[in-house]
Parts: sequence; structure tokens; C-alpha cells
Amino acid sequence: MRLMTYSRDGVEGVAVKQGGSWHDLGAIDPVAVLSGDPAIKNRLASLEAAPELDLAAIRLLPPVPRPGKIICVGLNYADHTAESPYAQPSYPTLFPRFATSLVADRASIIRPRSSQELDFEGELAVVIGRQARHVSQEVALQHVAGYSIFNDASIRDYQFKTPQWTVGKNFDGTGAFGPEIVTPDELPEGAKGLGITTRLNGETVQSGDTGDMLYSVADLIAIISEAITLEPGDVIATGTPAGIGWAREPKLFMKPGDVVEVEIEGIGILQNHIEDEVAAA
Ligand code: MG
Repeated sequence: MRLMTYSRDGVEGVAVKQGGSWHDLGAIDPVAVLSGDPAIKNRLASLEAAPELDLAAIRLLPPVPRPGKIICVGLNYADHTAESPYAQPSYPTLFPRFATSLVADRASIIRPRSSQELDFEGELAVVIGRQARHVSQEVALQHVAGYSIFNDASIRDYQFKTPQWTVGKNFDGTGAFGPEIVTPDELPEGAKGLGITTRLNGETVQSGDTGDMLYSVADLIAIISEAITLEPGDVIATGTPAGIGWAREPKLFMKPGDVVEVEIEGIGILQNHIEDEVAAA
């Protein structure tokens, strides 16, 4: 099953895809669907009763528009750590992203007024469906509602101003997320072994395999839940493989008019255009 969240005439709603067409569930909270709310389970069991979604009438939103938490993982692929200024730590590098930074598929990623160092990071996104605290690696995947795609677009000069990356990872309009959530039954266990590719203006700039993550999805849920309660709708952006623009010679940053795509095998393609932040009035 696939789930999308949309806006229609300013009202948020959810549609699910099963058997090739999108069924419109109307104005409900996507987190209620992801967490297996019993009332919604009944509606999912009789999807043929739901009208087909009018794709022309909607605008896509991030599949969870306002996650309670977005936890990003840095340095989770050895080839990316090797191109970074860091040694590989013995614990995942975790940092927050805030919902105000999110943009949907096909929306613009915003290059801010204060920097031209806008870089791409294609990543597998994990969406939590069941609360998790102190869960073991063995049962961790039972807490996953589904998988999606993330572009953890980063403002490099701000990221590296201090040892704390938060500001460089949280400029408005830099966290692309979508287009939809794919349930785990459609993918290999833990979404392992999927090709992940980033293209900038059609040219491949990152090419990896989700099986190469140093900390798997199950590892990450177990490790994070040792400290933090994961709740339905929370998102984990699992880290990016090698190829970022900052590590190139010369450096390659995204600029207005560019098109960036992140594709994950079996999940889909997240596509965004780059636009400059509008000057103050
Ligand atoms: Mg990242």
C-alpha cells in the first residue's frame, strides 16, 4: 500500500493506492492511518467504497506534513564519512530537523538569502507507526509504518560554522520529503538492498545501496529508542551515501533552475526544483 497526503482547497487529506489507483479517504490525519487507528483500518478494508482521487484537484504535501520529530542520521555510509571532515564515530550521529524545513515532492527547495552553499543529500526515510521506547533490534521493525524518500538538503557554510550541525540542516524549504509512503510489505525487510540515486539536472551525483548503511533501520530504532520515545508519524532520515557537492573539486552547489531527484528502488522518485528565497518586501 502507498499513502499520500494532499491539500485540496486548503484542506489536508489522505489517499491510499492499492491495485493501481488512488482511493481518496478525505480529510483525515495521515498519522491516524499510519498508527493503525481501528476506525481507519475498517475504511482501508473496504477501499472500493472510497472515491478515486482527482489528482488534478490536489497539491501534494509531505506524507507527514508536521512530524513530531524528524531525527536525521549523519555519517551512516562509510564512503560518505570518508569524503567528510570526520572520522567514523562508534555511535550514530543524530541531529534534529524541524517540520518548518519540510517541502513536498515537486515543490521548490529554497536557496536562502544568506548562503549559496545549498547541497543535496539523498536518503531513505523511515516513518514510525507504533510508539517505541527501549525496543530491541529484533522487534524494532514492527514499529515502522513505512518508507519514503528524503533530500536532507544542507547549507554547508552554516553546517560547519560550529561543531553542532542543526542550523545548517534546518533552513526553511530545505527538507524535501515524499512523494509518498510505501508500506513495509512491498519492500525487502528493513528496506535493505535498495539502490539509492541522486541526480542533479539529470546527471547522477550519488549512487548507493541502502544495504550499505552502517546502522540499519532496526539498529537505528533500537539505539534511538534507548533515549527517546519514537511516536507515530516521527521520521528518521537515515543518512546519505557518498557524492555530496561540498566534497567535490570544484564544489558543486545547487542553484535556481536546477532540478534534483532522489530515486530509491521500489519506493519512487522525489523531485524538486531549486528556487531563490524571495527578497524581503
Ligand atoms: Mg543527511
